[in-house]
This record gives sequence, structure tokens and C-alpha cells, in this order.
Amino acid sequence: MSGQWQADVFETHEISLIDERDFAPKRHMEYVQRLYEPIPRAPRKWRAGVLGATGIVGQRLVKLLANHPWFELTAVAASERSSGKTYEEATRWHLETPIPQEARNLVVKGLEPTLDCDFVFSALDSTVAGAAEEEFARAGYPVVSNSRNHRMDPDVPLLIPEVNASHLDAIRVQQAQRGYSTGFIVTNPNCSTAGLVLVLKPLADVFGLERIFVVTLQAVSGAGYPGVASMDIHANVVPFISGEEEKLESEPQKLLGRWDGRRFVDAGLGISAHCNRVPVLDGHLECVSISMKKIASTEEVREALRNFEVDPEIASLPSALRNPIEVLDEDNRPQPRRDVNSGNGMAAVVGRVRECPLLDIKMTLLSHNLVRGAAGAALLNAELLAARGFIPRRSKHSAPRRSGADAVTEQVAS
Ligand code: NAP
Repeated sequence: MSGQWQADVFETHEISLIDERDFAPKRHMEYVQRLYEPIPRAPRKWRAGVLGATGIVGQRLVKLLANHPWFELTAVAASERSSGKTYEEATRWHLETPIPQEARNLVVKGLEPTLDCDFVFSALDSTVAGAAEEEFARAGYPVVSNSRNHRMDPDVPLLIPEVNASHLDAIRVQQAQRGYSTGFIVTNPNCSTAGLVLVLKPLADVFGLERIFVVTLQAVSGAGYPGVASMDIHANVVPFISGEEEKLESEPQKLLGRWDGRRFVDAGLGISAHCNRVPVLDGHLECVSISMKKIASTEEVREALRNFEVDPEIASLPSALRNPIEVLDEDNRPQPRRDVNSGNGMAAVVGRVRECPLLDIKMTLLSHNLVRGAAGAALLNAELLAARGFIPRRSKHSAPRRSGADAVTEQVAS
């Protein structure tokens, strides 16, 4: 599917000069009829809602949805503190570019599953995300979630399109088991897991993986807003992030494992993680040591990372990079301030690939926690879901119905 849309209106072919040698009354009528046949209407954009739109991740989603070729933002929802206000009034905006025009005057709604949209992104605080996402899915909305609550559910895909797109097959099982009609939940991984697993994927494919030891240096924006108190983080390092090491040790097992038609089978890796909060604004740095099934030189590892090319279906999605891993040769890179926006924030940047005296190989990697690790990841997931026909378009101003296929009024074209 192309990212270029025609205007959402009927158009007619322009009348051009008629070749006089071709002129005869009957043929002329056919010709004129053809001139006025409507060009098929380009499918309209999918209408997206954002739950938790006022938060740090929600704001990134609102920004990334502005001028998106496939999606338009039509609904925003957050807590009772925000609902009833315009998005501009409710949001303490943190990004450098202004609030997109199309979002400013949207009225923030509560979490009732009656939003005017085809699907929702969830960037909700985890205290409310679990139940709210289930409610929306039950009411017929596809839910593309950032939150941790459903990531490890046995019937919910934890998705990085470049890594495990085949896990989307679990959606039909989820819908059948939970009695959902058109709704379902798909999640993206924790912000540190996202960059790590993207880098592990080509190594798993080429050499096979055994054990991973990882130490993270995570940015403050990973804690949301207001997040970590400035008195705790200024000129300091906090060697604990609640629940983070557990996520980093379990999520890669699911992502690099397989869906066998009934359940997810773990990759069976040994993983040990140490997670630290550091006074950096955006970008999680990770120091990783890896042991692999096949012996490989540092140059072979670098080549495997550099040559990692995603398949054409994924590469054609608007937010995808054909080569999502960037390998730097300088001894002092990657650095958050210099490299965090590589590939529009969707790249994993790797440097310092070298031998490890304990395991086989070690390296440093960096990824943007709010883009590759959150909003950009969710957007890419939604693009793949749309391209594969998982997101039905509904007639405007209708919320999905709870039961059955009658909620679907237009079939996805792809
Ligand atoms: P955040 O800045 O604290 O934003 C939380 C959002 O949830 C706000 O929109 C807030 O609305 C809403 N919310 C809070 N309590 C609510 C309630 N009772 N009812 C309805 N809405 C409520 O957090 P964040 O960093 O954006 O993270 C959002 C989610 O993404 C979390 O689950 C987080 O774990 C996950 N995540 C974050 C990152 C990251 O790097 N930050 C990365 C990956 C995943 P109000 O403004 O109205 O309070």
C-alpha cells in the first residue's frame, strides 16, 4: 500500500482534445462516458483515538499523528482532571514544536469506550490501562497499547514488526477466547526492551543467542511527567527502576520466541539486567554482553547488524526504516545527545562492538525511549495492523458496537 493518498473526493478525468480521425457519434458517446466516470475514491484515513493523550507518550503520539499519511487524530481521552477541557487547555505540552492544529481544540474525553474513531492507541498510566484497554477491546476497538499491563498475556501479541510480525496470528485466538468481535489488544515492549531486541534479532538469526547481560542508563522521560523528582536525579544516578529489570528479562523471551498456533513459546535465553536512571532527557543507553551459539568475529557481528534489512512488507510502512540498526565506528558513540534522533528516533544505534572476556561479544546501544520505545513503536504496530486488514473503518461518528460483524461498515482495502 502506498503512503500517498488522493484527495477524499470524487474526481473526473480532465477533458482532453478529441482526435478528429477518431470521431464517430457512437464512439464519441462511449468516449464522453469514460471521461466522466469517477476515479475510484481513495480510501479515507483511519481515525485514531489516543487514551492518555495528555501524558509524555500521548503527546508524542499526537505529534506523530499530525500529517500522518494513513491516520488522522479524531479523539483524545485522559483522566477526570482533563476531561471536558480542550486538548490545549488540558495538556502541559513538552515538545519543542507547537501542539498540532488538529489536536488543539479536540475536547478531552473520559475512558468510556464510545470514542469517535476506528481504533485507539493507549498511553495510559498502568494503574488504569489494564481494565480500560479490555473495555475498549470488548466494545470493538482495536487497542494498540504502550502499557505493560497486557504485554505478557498468553493471547496478546507483544510486537516489534521488524522482529516478530508473525505473532499477529494470535489476534484471532484472542478474539475467540475473550469473546471480542472486532476489538483486540496488541502491545509494544518496554522502552529498554525495544532497542535491545531490535539489535538482538539479526544476531539471533545469523549466529543464534545463548545469554545476555545488560546494564541500562535510562533517561528521565522514561518515567513520564513529572516523573523522578529533580532533587533525586540532578547530578546523580539512581540504581533502581521499579519493575524494569523484570520486564527486560522476560519480554525478549516472548519477542524472540514463536507463536505455535495456540500459544507463545519462549526463546529460552539466559538474561540478566541491571537498570539505572540517569540525568539524561531522552534516550536509553544499554551496555550489552552476549554469548552466541556460533563463534563469530567482531567484524562479522558488525556486518550482521549493518546488513539487517527488514522485509518489503514492513519496509513499506510509513514509519519503518529499511535498515533500522545504525552501526557507528567512533570509540565514543553512541551518545544520547548526539544520536537519539537517528532515523527519526526509530533507529537502534550501536557502537563499540568488541570482544567480551566473559561472554563472546559486547557493545553499546542507544534508542529513543519515547519514539522507538513508545509512540513510534505503537504507530508502526498500528500501520502493520492496518496494512494487514485488522482495523475496520467505521462510518463517521459511530462508536463500535459490542457484538458481531455489524459494527464493521467498510472493509479495509489492503
Ligand atoms: P504520563 O506522562 O504520566 O501520562 C499518563 C497518562 O495517563 C496521562 O494522559 C494521564 O491523564 C492518564 N491517566 C492517569 N491516570 C488516569 C486515570 N485515572 N484515568 C484516565 N487517565 C489517566 O506517563 P507516560 O510516560 O506518558 O506513560 C504512559 C504509558 O506508557 C505508561 O503505561 C508507561 O508505562 C508506558 N510507557 C512509557 C514510556 C516512556 O518512555 N515514558 C515508554 C514505554 C511505555 P491526565 O493528564 O489527565 O492525568
